[in-house]
Amino acid sequence: MARLELSNLHAEVAEGDEKILEGVDLEVESGEIHALMGPNGSGKSTTAKVIAGHPAYEVTEGEVLLHLEDEEFGEDIEIDEDQRTWNLLDLEPNERAALGIFLGFQYPAEIEGVTMTNFLRTALNAKIEEREELFEDEDGEDEDEEDEGFESSPMEGPADEGEVGVAEFQQILQEKMEQLDMDEKFAQRYLNAGFSGGEKKQNEVLQAAILEPSVAVLDEIDSGLDIDRLQDVSEGINALRDEQGTGILQITHYQRILDYVEPDHVHVMLDGQIAKSGGPELAEKLEDKGYDWVREDVYGTA
Ligand code: ADP
Ligand code: MG
Ligand code: MG
Repeated sequence: MARLELSNLHAEVAEGDEKILEGVDLEVESGEIHALMGPNGSGKSTTAKVIAGHPAYEVTEGEVLLHLEDEEFGEDIEIDEDQRTWNLLDLEPNERAALGIFLGFQYPAEIEGVTMTNFLRTALNAKIEEREELFEDEDGEDEDEEDEGFESSPMEGPADEGEVGVAEFQQILQEKMEQLDMDEKFAQRYLNAGFSGGEKKQNEVLQAAILEPSVAVLDEIDSGLDIDRLQDVSEGINALRDEQGTGILQITHYQRILDYVEPDHVHVMLDGQIAKSGGPELAEKLEDKGYDWVREDVYGTA
């Protein structure tokens, strides 16, 4: 189990002094689904990017902590007491990802000759390697030396120690794609080549299924989806939670996706703060009454 904790988070644009986040408090545990809603420009995407470590933003106050429990690590890694709580603001984006934070990546529009399968396997192995480095025993032996003289083709030979090899990855991928009800052919396609908007969103969910994060931040994954695709993507998100215990921070402007991905908690962001939190009924009230109602309720004026 893991818990992501934002407290009194303030952030501004790195180049300039425009304040965007003005004291965000939020906790997401693995296994929970949180909806983060709010009008355009309220700071939802900035919250996501600050969690991931986007360089465009500077955190001026507050904390982003990740608390980890033993189960998080399987049998390979024994964690020390001082490795249970991580201050994400001290870590690089890839280190945050290795600790179990997922933000749908912005990868290049298209890379010639790279299939989805290879892209996903590379991403998984990068995470495994980074994780090993983060939890490396200080007195551990140098693994690189053992590898000497065993160079092999990346497509055929055995994987490096700790890495997921081609055959093993095929099995993982097949299992995850079945879980998400995705067409097998998808994995053979070249990265993003001719992907529809809906396929890109499904791909984002597949990435999260492969990487098995503790907390996945999904920013407007519902935008531009027709109803069938919305249902597919939603089932995939539910499977992340049900099958691998991923906590979900679902950022959305609209209530619609919450009919399919039922949140445990709903938060409304206004002007860089969480102005109101509640259960699913809060999202329904927003659907009926819009965001001005929250503004009136909180500030006494629209
Ligand atoms: P939301 O996702 O809720 O629509 P954002 O987090 O994208 O809101 O943006 C919040 C506010 O911060 C907006 O007024 C936006 O224009 C501003 N903003 C966000 N990122 C930047 C940036 N990199 N440079 C300048 N202003 C930004
Ligand atoms: Mg946004
Ligand atoms: Mg150790």
